[in-house]
Amino acid sequence: VAARPTSMPAGTARTTDGTAVDLLANINLLGELPLARRMGAAGIGLYRTEFPFLIRPSFPSETEQYLVYRKVVSAMGDRPVVFRTLDLGGEKTLAYSDAAKEANPELGLRSIRFTLAYRDIFEQQLRAILRAAAGRESLGIMFPLISSPDDFLRARQVLNDCMDRLEAEGLDHHDHPAIGMMVELPAVVETMAEFAALADFFAIGTNDFVQYMLGVDRGNKRVADYYRPEHPAVLRALERVVRIAGAHDKPISICGEMGHDTAMIPFLLGIGIRRLSLDPQFMPGVNQCIAGLEINRCRNHALEMMAAGSIAGVQKCLAGF
Ligand code: PEP
Ligand code: MG
Repeated sequence: VAARPTSMPAGTARTTDGTAVDLLANINLLGELPLARRMGAAGIGLYRTEFPFLIRPSFPSETEQYLVYRKVVSAMGDRPVVFRTLDLGGEKTLAYSDAAKEANPELGLRSIRFTLAYRDIFEQQLRAILRAAAGRESLGIMFPLISSPDDFLRARQVLNDCMDRLEAEGLDHHDHPAIGMMVELPAVVETMAEFAALADFFAIGTNDFVQYMLGVDRGNKRVADYYRPEHPAVLRALERVVRIAGAHDKPISICGEMGHDTAMIPFLLGIGIRRLSLDPQFMPGVNQCIAGLEINRCRNHALEMMAAGSIAGVQKCLAGF
């Protein structure tokens, strides 16, 4: 009789009542893969594909990208990998791009807006991802900074066109990726039901979500005091997004820094989050935090947090937990 595994891999944390929470890794560069593996990540929940672009002196070709992406998927074996398409612009500007300087880069031609405007760059990347994942069971591709269902449909159409062309060219590729999106803009909250009918999965980028929800530059120290994940508007919006995704049976994760904030994890579990994607260095601490939580207590705590009508009120709930 084969021995049953007695220890849970670090990639799955369990609350005291046995509720499983998947822990996936956020990866920027290939050099971070060994740590993700060592920490037992259940997969890659967010691969920030812009980093190989940022560290090069010119745009990497489709083949160069293919070689990088191939290393990511082979390092993770059969564990799931989610590629986020280029999230350039805003803070992440390319030294070699001729993109015009913008007065408000965080509200400018960044992220999916950039790739929809430079379709050749978008297509090269999508082709490289699809080719690198050929023969793999699962592949997730997600689009950042989606602001309307129209954006999502446009991006998905480019992806579908790439698959058609690869097929016509007879090139090996993955032909059934799960197609997801980041939740980073307040506009998504109001249209979440429409998105839930379109996207296969969601990842909440709380770093940008807080920035745009509260209108506070996430990198500006002068307004750092206004950047409050514990703002009631942020908490209530997160609850709503998670509830609607759940009602449509669509997986949803947190992949922003709130996901490793042990003060916020009880709230996140309380509103139904069961998947966190985080910098692998935080996995042991997050695992330990979750192991000490009881899901019903988290639910009550989340209700209390959302009932609080001010930042100070929420902070009181956090201190009392
Ligand atoms: C986020 O916005 O929370 C996120 C995960 O994306 P990035 O930090 O790369 O903008
Ligand atoms: Mg973001």
